[in-house]
Amino acid sequence: MSSAHESRETPLLKVEGLSKTFLSGGLFARPQTVVALRDVSFTVDRGEAVALVGESGSGKSTVARILLRLERPDEGRILLDAEDILATEPLRASLPYRGRVQMVFQDPFGSLNRTHDVNHHLARPLLRHKRATSKDVREKAIDLLHVVGLEPAEEFIWRRPYELSGGQRQRVAIARALAVDPDLLIADEPTSMLDVSIRMNILTLLARLKEERRLAMLLITHDLASARYLADRVLVLFRGRIVEAGPADEIVASPAHPYTQALLESIADVGKLGAESRDVEPDPDELSSDGCPFAPRCPEAMDVCWKVDPSYRTVDSRRVRCHLYPEDGGGAGEAETGARTQAAGQ
Ligand code: SF4
Repeated sequence: MSSAHESRETPLLKVEGLSKTFLSGGLFARPQTVVALRDVSFTVDRGEAVALVGESGSGKSTVARILLRLERPDEGRILLDAEDILATEPLRASLPYRGRVQMVFQDPFGSLNRTHDVNHHLARPLLRHKRATSKDVREKAIDLLHVVGLEPAEEFIWRRPYELSGGQRQRVAIARALAVDPDLLIADEPTSMLDVSIRMNILTLLARLKEERRLAMLLITHDLASARYLADRVLVLFRGRIVEAGPADEIVASPAHPYTQALLESIADVGKLGAESRDVEPDPDELSSDGCPFAPRCPEAMDVCWKVDPSYRTVDSRRVRCHLYPEDGGGAGEAETGARTQAAGQ
């Protein structure tokens, strides 16, 4: 794992107090407020992979959409190299911003245009972002294919998406993201639509890129096994809020929050990447309004859980939002502070 925790430099990405509420319902339905994110804060250092883990509806994709400037948060700040992105960037991300923050999508079949060959997919960003000239664009596109392990690159460059397997398409999508030499790569469930047999290959490629290029990564996933393999730190999201944050190995080895424990138990075999998991989200109707949002499903729920929303507490190198652990004075927005401080001191 990277020693990114030891870094004392300004984090590449700093997300502070992100909150987002959506209004659901249509013409004939009663409008309802859906809280997607509540006061979410975290950082990602250069050369570090951070996994946002949670079931559907946990808010992890909303974080990605906000970072890609596809949504505007109701509250919060996003600092990229200390620059306040929400204050300086237009809602539709500028070309320089897209040159720094790139995305690898879940669906390798839908993310490439079937009518164009690999050369087109790579040449376009290389030229648009001025990472190549018309003279050396072919050479740079072939270099990218070498980087993502598509060999022989000189042959793959002329193939069209329908001539590639799912894993090969995902490698092209990763090469396309690398074409602009980004600082931050957001990978949204990058292996969930691939055969189990090739998921490990793609995660290994991402891990290598993180180390070799000192690339910062935000992995969006429901799968704790993938998170443990690729990420240095894990942030567990439940109902739009981080309920546990800390080193990936520690969280998977001994999850502290009952929701993280349920997530882990729902995976048939945590050693098996992308293993099927049961949905452990509660029914919205069961949510307690005042206390801990997980109380209706929590096997450990106590009286206080129904009345008081827990603050963050420090458990080993982690921050955990749960009454099972003694309070240590952490505030509601401090999901990371204690974990990072302790990890740095190890
Ligand atoms: Fe369970 Fe209570 Fe902890 Fe919530 S605060 S996760 S209900 S023990």
